[in-house]
Amino acid sequence: MPDRGFPIVLSADRSLMAAHPLLLDGMAASAQSTAWPANLIWPLIARPVASGGVRAHQAPLGVRRVESALTVGDVSAGEMIVAAPERIEQAIGPATRIVGLSSGDPLGMGMTSTTVTGIFGGRPVTSARFQKLLERVRRRLAAVAPEARVVLGGPGVWQARENDEAERALRDLGIDHVVSGYCEANIAELFRQLRDGASLPFVLEGQGVAASEIPPIRGASVMGLVEVSRGCGWGCDFCTLADQPMIHLDEETIVADVETNVAAGVANVSLTSEDFLRYGAAGRSVNPRAVIHLLERLNRVPQLATLAIDHANVVSVAAFSDEELAEVRRLLALGRDTWRPWVNMGVETACGELLRSASGTVKTHPHDPGDWGQLCREQVLRLCRADYLPMVSLVIGLPGEQAEHVEETIRWVESLVDEPVSIVPVLLTPVRTGARGRVAAGDLTRRQWDLFRLSMATTFRRLPSLYRQHHRAAGVGLAGRLFKQILGQGYAMRWRYALWRRHRAARS
Ligand code: SF4
Repeated sequence: MPDRGFPIVLSADRSLMAAHPLLLDGMAASAQSTAWPANLIWPLIARPVASGGVRAHQAPLGVRRVESALTVGDVSAGEMIVAAPERIEQAIGPATRIVGLSSGDPLGMGMTSTTVTGIFGGRPVTSARFQKLLERVRRRLAAVAPEARVVLGGPGVWQARENDEAERALRDLGIDHVVSGYCEANIAELFRQLRDGASLPFVLEGQGVAASEIPPIRGASVMGLVEVSRGCGWGCDFCTLADQPMIHLDEETIVADVETNVAAGVANVSLTSEDFLRYGAAGRSVNPRAVIHLLERLNRVPQLATLAIDHANVVSVAAFSDEELAEVRRLLALGRDTWRPWVNMGVETACGELLRSASGTVKTHPHDPGDWGQLCREQVLRLCRADYLPMVSLVIGLPGEQAEHVEETIRWVESLVDEPVSIVPVLLTPVRTGARGRVAAGDLTRRQWDLFRLSMATTFRRLPSLYRQHHRAAGVGLAGRLFKQILGQGYAMRWRYALWRRHRAARS
């Protein structure tokens, strides 16, 4: 460790950078508010990543990608460090010129955050942790490197672009610049200019590279996250990825990133994409052969313990045959006879006409919006029959939502309660400038809370066995598994009580 610190220090707060065994654990940990008993629970559910002194053994995937892009851009390993957030002060010294921090939710404006705080009160753990880290960074910089710049990047940067108030809030917190979007093509040059003291605007426009030029990561990622595709481009009004076309990483890069994780002892890997089933396809189509070929390659990586995916679109599931879905499941099982992969699907509402009026026909295309509820139900059931656990997300309070739309979605959920499915609602928060509506928990009617409670009941019923199976396969010890199960039961009770109170207090 140089006495004078590193010129470039990269890190993230614990809500993005913790030693979660699985993506499932990271999702649960980041969906917390600071309301009681968060302070007691947080250190137990988000343990620090291992570090060799200050250098973190695992880092968020985006931080790893920036590290690689800087290396490609001729920044030497000795000039930068990916630091564990708990020890970031030790990485910062008089030589430090840039502290690059990643955040998924710097101002607590994300949909999950606003839903959780709307129900439980407190602040989102994501923004609270980030702001705490930032405070420590600013204090340290003031003491040893007052000229250094603090640069924010990561999936939560859209919040800085929302309005002048958001930008002011970030400046007040001590952010000097934000890097917007993917930035492998110009991050090294931007950092070089900042190091030379150039005066640059608050928002720095990142430039991505072609999929074939995305540099492989050089160290393990948190939760073994490995990027399969980026962007989506379907244009849903309420989504940050609406106008970012989907590109697919080369199979070689994906395999290399999986191997890097496994070599570093991170044997539980999660493949991330907004629509895994679209891997290797052009536009909105699917290419099952490419998906299966990728998974076959990954099945040959020695020592890989578990393999998860995150999202798939309903219409992509519909475009896969039963046999293809079964083959994907078999390959995700990595040779296990019994294995239930989970997959997140954005249904949003059972009413296609509402979805169409709220965000256009993009989501349902090429199907008739009038068939949306039926289509979603059929695809959920196909996945259940193929031994997946679909995790369905719903959005409550889409612009124009009326009582009859809520009733339609309630009936839709009721038709699935006996199936192995988890349904999770969120309250609408516009995440794009110009998008309509924002729904506060206090605005919901009793029937909307009924929908919330009915949906969450499926989640509380189905998730314990999923966690049990996946934790066992991931090598979590008996004590750890029991602890998580007990905690999960306590968490479910807390949710039930909070939802009951909300329901009681709601207007009819
Ligand atoms: S399909 Fe999903 S990821 Fe794509 S724009 Fe719509 S909500 Fe976003």
